[in-house]
Amino acid sequence: MSSHVSKKIASALMEGGKLLAEACPVCASPLVQRKTGEVFCLSCEKQVVIVSSDEEALGKVTVNSVLYELEELMMRRIKAAIESVKSGEADERSTLENMTLMLDVVKKIKELRKS
Ligand SMILES: [Zn+2]
Repeated sequence: MSSHVSKKIASALMEGGKLLAEACPVCASPLVQRKTGEVFCLSCEKQVVIVSSDEEALGKVTVNSVLYELEELMMRRIKAAIESVKSGEADERSTLENMTLMLDVVKKIKELRKS
């Protein structure tokens, strides 16, 4: 999965979306359920209708690796944000607000791992 898709998933989660255990049948990206209930693949940019299948176990493995990738992306971003505040390049207040959102995503990832 590209980091482009990771970013889209991150922003969908910030908007109150939910990361599902099921993966996209076409591209195997994790599916996100919007607050409205529709399930989307943010990689294919299509709505997906979930049907339970024997491949569910396989889907979970994929989602775990994606969660890891997303967490890694968030940690890299947070680290970069810290550096930009230290060097005085970034506005401290808005950077801290962004960091709070990113930490929220990391928290959600940890919750998903436990479930
Ligand atoms: Zn897809």
